[in-house]
Amino acid sequence: MMVVGSPEQTETALLAGEVACPHCSAPLHPHGHARTRTVRGLGQEWVTVQPRRARCGGCRRTQVLLPAALTLRRADTVEVIGTALAAKAAGNGYRTIAAGMGRPVSTVRRWFRRVPEKHVHWLYEQAVKHAFDLNPDMLFRPKEWPSLLGWSLNILAGAALAFNRLASTELPPWTVIGYFTRGNLLSPPVRT
Ligand SMILES: [Zn+2]
Repeated sequence: MMVVGSPEQTETALLAGEVACPHCSAPLHPHGHARTRTVRGLGQEWVTVQPRRARCGGCRRTQVLLPAALTLRRADTVEVIGTALAAKAAGNGYRTIAAGMGRPVSTVRRWFRRVPEKHVHWLYEQAVKHAFDLNPDMLFRPKEWPSLLGWSLNILAGAALAFNRLASTELPPWTVIGYFTRGNLLSPPVRT
């Protein structure tokens, strides 16, 4: 599994042999598609994607190229879950958030259980790493950020804007954040 920013740009790069294998760095080639996934966006919107499958010309391993707007193993987009986490960081309770977003209370509680302190620290590390590469100025923490989660999401958002500026892309910020966090806005990262 690899997380990719824009499916369209990835397709173009894949056809040009410009996507490198994460294992051996040889070029990946198109190799069919993974199963279609339908996930929920904000509000009543549904998002259907069929992730690209690719095969390495060197080690022959196959990869599913997961669009960064999706989270691993979740039925909602990064934008939806990120919006809920930002509301939590701003001090809202899960019942209020669930009602505001039109999601079951149990779903929102489940998301929040997947953000234990250890994972917040991991998100913070990803935020700092990307911000440092893109625009270290944003790392000066103002005093008014009470929670590490809120501060981490703020840095990730700033880094996403800096990424779009440097790469001359206009990807939705939550999509870039999905890319930065490799599909793991919620669950712990899979060690590779
Ligand atoms: Zn390979």
